[in-house]
Amino acid sequence: MTYTNFTVETDADGIALVTWDMPGKSMNVFTAEILEELNAIIDATVADAAVKGVVFTSGKSSFSGGADLSMIKSMFSFYREEKAKDPAAATQKLFDLVGRMTGLFRKLETCGKPWVSAINGTCMGGAFELSLACHGRVASSAKSVKIALPEVKVGIFPGAGGTQRIARLTDAQSALQMMTTGQSLTAARAKAMNLVHQVVEPDQLIPAAKQMIKDGLKPVAPWDEKGFKAPGGGIWTPAAAQLWPAAPAILRRETSGNYPAALAILKCVYEGLQVPFDTGLKIEQRYFTHVLQTTEAYSMIRSLFISMQELGKGARRPAGQPKTELKKVGVVGAGFMGASIAYVTAAAGISVTLIDRDIDAATKGKGVGEGLVKDSIGKGRLTQDEGAALLSRITPSADYSDLKDSDLVIEAVFEDREVKKAVVEAVEAVLPAGAVFASNTSTLPITGLAKNCKRPSDFIGIHFFSPVEKMMLTEVILGKETGDHALAVALDYVAAIKKTPIVVNDTRGFFVNRCVFRYIHEAYDMLIEGVPAAMIENAAKMAGMPVGPLALNDEVAIDLSYKILKATVADLGEKAVDPRHMQLISRLVEGEGRLGRKNSKGFYDYPPKPAKKSLWPGLKDLYPQKKADEVDVGVLKQRFLATIALEAARTIEEGIVTDPREADVGSILGFGFAPYTGGALSYIDGMGVKAFVELCEKLAATYGPHFQPTALLKDMAAKGETFYGRFDPYGAKKAA
Ligand code: NAD
Repeated sequence: MTYTNFTVETDADGIALVTWDMPGKSMNVFTAEILEELNAIIDATVADAAVKGVVFTSGKSSFSGGADLSMIKSMFSFYREEKAKDPAAATQKLFDLVGRMTGLFRKLETCGKPWVSAINGTCMGGAFELSLACHGRVASSAKSVKIALPEVKVGIFPGAGGTQRIARLTDAQSALQMMTTGQSLTAARAKAMNLVHQVVEPDQLIPAAKQMIKDGLKPVAPWDEKGFKAPGGGIWTPAAAQLWPAAPAILRRETSGNYPAALAILKCVYEGLQVPFDTGLKIEQRYFTHVLQTTEAYSMIRSLFISMQELGKGARRPAGQPKTELKKVGVVGAGFMGASIAYVTAAAGISVTLIDRDIDAATKGKGVGEGLVKDSIGKGRLTQDEGAALLSRITPSADYSDLKDSDLVIEAVFEDREVKKAVVEAVEAVLPAGAVFASNTSTLPITGLAKNCKRPSDFIGIHFFSPVEKMMLTEVILGKETGDHALAVALDYVAAIKKTPIVVNDTRGFFVNRCVFRYIHEAYDMLIEGVPAAMIENAAKMAGMPVGPLALNDEVAIDLSYKILKATVADLGEKAVDPRHMQLISRLVEGEGRLGRKNSKGFYDYPPKPAKKSLWPGLKDLYPQKKADEVDVGVLKQRFLATIALEAARTIEEGIVTDPREADVGSILGFGFAPYTGGALSYIDGMGVKAFVELCEKLAATYGPHFQPTALLKDMAAKGETFYGRFDPYGAKKAA
């Protein structure tokens, strides 16, 4: 029998080697067709008396990335359509659909012939769940092997038997840790956790897997043996009595109760370990069906899985522009940002000329890359040779003529119009036609900077976030005259350095900083109202923000906030800034010399390590303090999320952001907007625009006109629209 996605070759020992290799795809993923073919392979190998056992592997460099986008998308659309007709029947159908993979893997596990999974590379989600259903697991020792059940990161959990098998192979605490964080395991770690049986050299993978079968591997899972006991003895042991009462509290501390999938993992393991395996699978199936119906799962999958991949693959790339394979990139300004931009570019295999005012400054910038390479070698992420090759791609220089054969030049010099103008002119004098010039400015409009240049259509903004090597987002900013070629080159570059781009139109603060400053300014308002600073920080974290607004302001630097407030007054007049904010910040910066983390004094005090930062006690003396029980934490949480979401809505209304996917992904990757909401616009869509407008009106009545809902929101509320409906990224409007 032949299959589209698999080959099956049976050797003289009667071992069938099933190789998963989907045509036309760079990675194997689960689709409905895969499940059908896998089912047929199980039947065929069981029926064939010549087959003694099966080794299952991948024909690609990775094993499999797990579920396919289109399968998940169609599951959601199917459920939503059915639900509108008959909610109970829709839930039943969803339950049955969810059970399909579970049932198939259980069929494999109980088919009566031994199966061994030979894990040759990245093995994620459903693919590892399939491996867990095999009777043996052998992993290659190659560095590229990463094993994970990362579903929780997109709002779901391992729902094809993963929660039950993991908890029966390793101790409950490690099982919970692995699944509630979605952490990646190396092959060695997976072996130490008893999740794989052997780790072997890459070229020994298939022979070792076959040998397991020849050595008489029993085609019975441990939990199907009589007298099976889970590692650690299950639920009713002294160790479990230590773990289980604390587990929900620890989870709550980590997630503030915002992630239904994480809690469901706890329930699946706790309840599942008390019942026979098949009943455990049913419990998992029920919780999975429930979690799939939550707004969190829907929104997280859409933004963090589907949209993120679509944007990464160039959803906003202009049609008809040939792809640029960037060979050489120039970076001008080897300071804090430029040095790291040079590093991430070289890490992507691109040669970089790193320019500063003199060679010493440029060489110092390369030194930042040297430090990062040393760290990576120390952590085993790079070999000495790879590190040396990376660094050899960065050439420091003070001579602009070295930029002459660059495909792209990015400037990251001082945030000063005159300095940038001089740099644009110097670069343009040597840059070949067709090469693109990008500015990493964080505050200066791109259209204005492009005026200094003779080819404004080749001028664009590429706004990085710090720390550049860690932050996955870049904001690509279109000036009024930026052309499609510049946009295509910028997006090809961002893809090459493996970051996710959002494309926005020119405006003060672009998208991310506009939203971030709303967040920080709401915290200023709260401080001024006398809300204790610790409550402000904790409420923000309970709302799902990774960093409190005051801590964030310390990272950004309070004197930078001060500069921006002053620049806003200079450009737009006194009324553009809340005078109480100006007073607060000038008191901190000028009165107290508190600039943020950079001088160890900001909203927090930063004592020398290992002591931890703590809120500056002097904050209490700035404004009369409210008592904790006079403050409604629920309202603080709403204020943080609503003020950011409103700003995101304004950027759509003003045409700064044109695609809701970008506002959502940008808000999560740019500043960690409560990921369980799916991003700033999904937060609004998730509760419904009408409910959001009502919330804003209520907040505006007490906390100020900045909460007033906009005309667009009111219109959408009246018409019952959503952002993804009205600004449908896949719809005709986009194509027009
Ligand atoms: P920085 O002061 O650390 O570095 C600026 C570098 O530019 C210095 O090394 C300086 O010597 C060099 N330079 C100045 N004039 C030059 C010239 N004429 N030719 C060559 N080199 C010159 O500043 P930074 O924090 O790296 O910021 C650089 C740019 O990046 C600014 O536009 C800033 O707004 C933007 N940015 C900064 C951040 C951040 O978090 N710091 C984030 C995003 C964007």
